[in-house]
Amino acid sequence: MKRQTPLVLMYHGIGEVPATLDPDNLFVPSATFAAQLDRLVERGWAVIDEAGYLAALDGAPTPPRSVLLTFDDGYVSVLERAVPLLAARGLPALCYVSPGLDGRGPAPGLPDDFALMTTQQMRELVAAGVSLGCHGWDHQSMSGMDQVSLQRYTVTARDAVRAVIGTTDGPATFAYPFGHHDERAREAVADAGFSCAFATYTGSGRFALPRVDINATETPRSFDLKLRTIYPLARRALTSTPRVRQAVHRAVGHARRS
Ligand SMILES: [Zn+2]
Repeated sequence: MKRQTPLVLMYHGIGEVPATLDPDNLFVPSATFAAQLDRLVERGWAVIDEAGYLAALDGAPTPPRSVLLTFDDGYVSVLERAVPLLAARGLPALCYVSPGLDGRGPAPGLPDDFALMTTQQMRELVAAGVSLGCHGWDHQSMSGMDQVSLQRYTVTARDAVRAVIGTTDGPATFAYPFGHHDERAREAVADAGFSCAFATYTGSGRFALPRVDINATETPRSFDLKLRTIYPLARRALTSTPRVRQAVHRAVGHARRS
């Protein structure tokens, strides 16, 4: 029987953003997020940190119900809203940032919730005990990306996150913008020395590990369903790759491209 690897949840922002302004359901309300954390603890889930996850990946004994909490994109609300709720419960988390977009304000027409953390805020996040991971350079899809850009998305971005953290090594893990990856992207990430990388729904080995998307539409029932290990498999079996959060990622990406 295949050894069970820890579950990885993927969040984006935390906050009360009206659905009309957040069509991709990126922002989980604070109270919902707090209830989800309590639910995990009540249900006996061990919330592990990045190091614990990597150890489990390498075969270290890990509780069967282990979960890693990840946040993509680096919204300011991770620092301002998620951190206090995590800290109150003593729970670790991991946040993926794109150094080429640090401090980027919301795209026109979007509320302040869509602002991304500055370097200083990322440092505050690290000081608060959240690990930083690399989310490429400026949030373009890495599928089909040329070699020069792949280098910027892995080596340059890695060094930039390292400078934020203020260490001579790390970040240890990578998450693909939009969850998009191909063989060359996976190779570039591996060559840059990352220990593993996360995709969204579609996995491919250690350098494209699938995650479970938790978004604004969750009810306690859907959250429970997503915690069941069958969920990613069921989702993959359905083959209809759910819409990856195009709008906000578009907002981030277009702000750069236009
Ligand atoms: Zn992203």
